[in-house]
Amino acid sequence: MQWVSVAINRPLAAWFDYSCDVPVELGARVMVPFGRGQVVGVVMRVHQQPPEGDFTVKSVTQVLDDKPLINQELQKLLAYAARYYQHPAGEVVHAALPVALRKGAENVRDLPRLFSLTDTGRTALGGSLGEKQHQVLATLAERDMSAAELREAFKANKAWLDDLLMRGWLSARECWQGVVEDERSDVPQLSAEQDTIVTTLNNAKAFSVHLLDGVTGSGKTEVYLHWLDKLLENGGQALVLVPEIGLVNAMSSALRARLRHAVVTHHSGMTDKARLDTWQAIAAGDAQVVVGTRSAIFSPFIDLRGIVVDEEHDQAYKQQDGFRYHARDMAIVRAHNNNIPIVLGSATPSLESYHKVWQGGWQYHRLAERIRADAPAKIVMVNPQEGELVGGLEKRLVRAMRATLREGKQVMLFLNRRGYAPLMYCAQCGWKSECPACDTTMTAHTHSRRLQCHHCGRQAPLPLQCPSCMSTELLMLGMGTQRLEQAVNLHFPQARVLRMDSDAFTTAKQFDEAVAKIHAGEVDIVLGTQWLSKGHHFANLHLVAVVDVDQALFSADYRSEERLAQLLVQVAGRAGRESQGEVWLQTTQPQHPVFSVLHTPYIDQAKRLYAQRRESGLPPLTAQALLMSTHRDGARAAQALQWTRSGVEQALGRDEALRWLGPAPALMPRKDGKQRQQLLLQASDKKHLQRNLPEIIAWLNAQGQALGVRVMVDVDPQGSD
Ligand code: ADP
Ligand code: ZN
Ligand code: ZN
Repeated sequence: MQWVSVAINRPLAAWFDYSCDVPVELGARVMVPFGRGQVVGVVMRVHQQPPEGDFTVKSVTQVLDDKPLINQELQKLLAYAARYYQHPAGEVVHAALPVALRKGAENVRDLPRLFSLTDTGRTALGGSLGEKQHQVLATLAERDMSAAELREAFKANKAWLDDLLMRGWLSARECWQGVVEDERSDVPQLSAEQDTIVTTLNNAKAFSVHLLDGVTGSGKTEVYLHWLDKLLENGGQALVLVPEIGLVNAMSSALRARLRHAVVTHHSGMTDKARLDTWQAIAAGDAQVVVGTRSAIFSPFIDLRGIVVDEEHDQAYKQQDGFRYHARDMAIVRAHNNNIPIVLGSATPSLESYHKVWQGGWQYHRLAERIRADAPAKIVMVNPQEGELVGGLEKRLVRAMRATLREGKQVMLFLNRRGYAPLMYCAQCGWKSECPACDTTMTAHTHSRRLQCHHCGRQAPLPLQCPSCMSTELLMLGMGTQRLEQAVNLHFPQARVLRMDSDAFTTAKQFDEAVAKIHAGEVDIVLGTQWLSKGHHFANLHLVAVVDVDQALFSADYRSEERLAQLLVQVAGRAGRESQGEVWLQTTQPQHPVFSVLHTPYIDQAKRLYAQRRESGLPPLTAQALLMSTHRDGARAAQALQWTRSGVEQALGRDEALRWLGPAPALMPRKDGKQRQQLLLQASDKKHLQRNLPEIIAWLNAQGQALGVRVMVDVDPQGSD
């Protein structure tokens, strides 16, 4: 008899103890009684002694895996993540599993059959055969093919193939097959800058963090390719993280076209089945390179040798709800645990990463030159207060767009707000399209003819008359992408316009198809939210414009200036990849120092922003955790935080290195019918924060329970909503 501690997918901090009368491995799944039902759990500890305490220990109902599903290395990472982010460990463990396994499905691989020609088959090929039989056998004489390939090429179905198997002409084996890229791309000669960095990386054998600060188009991807090729020479696995689904394809194609290793992808747009297949291929060591978004960091590697985090500054690496982890930071932990090198690449590195470099912990590599040394983009700023706006676009910008189109080149417009207009307003009685459940207005969407709250999802039909006074004088105020699309269509009725935002695109496939259309020159003007600002190289794109720069300049988030600087660089990097491009910025603040980022190296801007953060005592020079509470009654939500604060202050005593701000209402106090309060905790550094967090969160949870208030914590918050 043994006893096991089991992680269960519930928001509970503890493991649960059960007895088990059959052998069970650490990291395997078990079925256990929980509450009134049966749930899947993962064995996190095995004990030879029963747990102490005066309670009856129930027993495991069934052992689901005879081998560990989560190996020790991944267990360690997950335990660390749960502790660091103060998130219920059971949920963290289950988040690392594909949905099917989370639900208790058997962990067996569904592998495709690969067919080969037997000697008997070879002989048969010499005799008289039907036409299709001849074609199939002749092709198989050249190379083995999978059932899917045979179906595609010869319409050979299962029964037909089984018949040939019966005759002994073919043999079949189960075999994992990665995607194979037909086109191999040439290996370019590295520039001197690239070569130095690749050499350093090749020599890095132990844990080391390398920040690759390279201007757009300087060949960062090329550095990854050379390094990974060498790194995996003698086997092993590597992880390449990208911030968004839309970038997975470009990165995996680049890798497949060059590496001899099996590359798989992982992202949230995949079916459960595809995710399971990938997961199993990684766990079996069949997949050597994993290209994925955020959650790929929890892939079940068995022999991880190196990690790349591309566009490391991107805030999409931080999960903003539930288990609020930062994939880049967890990647560094994983690299450390495995004692392997990790490369963080960006044209606009985060202040967090510069901070580490300047403190002396990380290695810094710079790629200062664009590979194609063409002239940098021409920057034009237009002040909409001084110029003349037509449909949200300044007249001179419209003229420049026209000139660009006349030359057969493409235009891209950025506007970080979807929908038609963020507000509907009655000129007669002052009615506004307020959300009934949130302290914000509902956005008018003209395509779906609905009002939509972008915070809670509530919808209502688009009113034709004021719901309050029946007047028809309803105004649409402000501009979203749909309205911009309408304006662009009016200005350029002959142009092919493509709007890209999350209303127009719901799947990764649609996104990839749209990107392909832009590449193929089937689109003249692309407009959308910031989706397209990153990573892509559009050869024929000449003019890029940011329509709403000021939105970022007047934000309450202390990170908004850093984000704007990053956006400006990324956007400028999109314009004129193959010839001199133009970047147009509509802003009422053309003198703002953030715009110097377009003329001087990004690191100068980073130093300016870093000095500001130091002055105000903000991260990365300090560390923060945001404690949040929600309840229908705002006073009660505040109470939970107030009691947490006073309780902790009494228990821990006076600590100069810990500061509290709040409790105070969130920026948007009411969301989805609940009042939201926040309490910001700021510590002198991450270590000090981590030392104190367990006790603070224990207080928070206790107050939450006592008052019936929902409480949450966000460690290293990236801005709140
Ligand atoms: P980044 O990731 O820094 O934006 P990429 O790695 O995508 O830059 O490189 C930009 C372009 O330059 C790509 O088309 C790439 O194939 C090409 N390139 C990169 N390095 C070299 C090189 N050493 N010689 C020739 N072309 C290169
Ligand atoms: Zn009215
Ligand atoms: Zn709402």
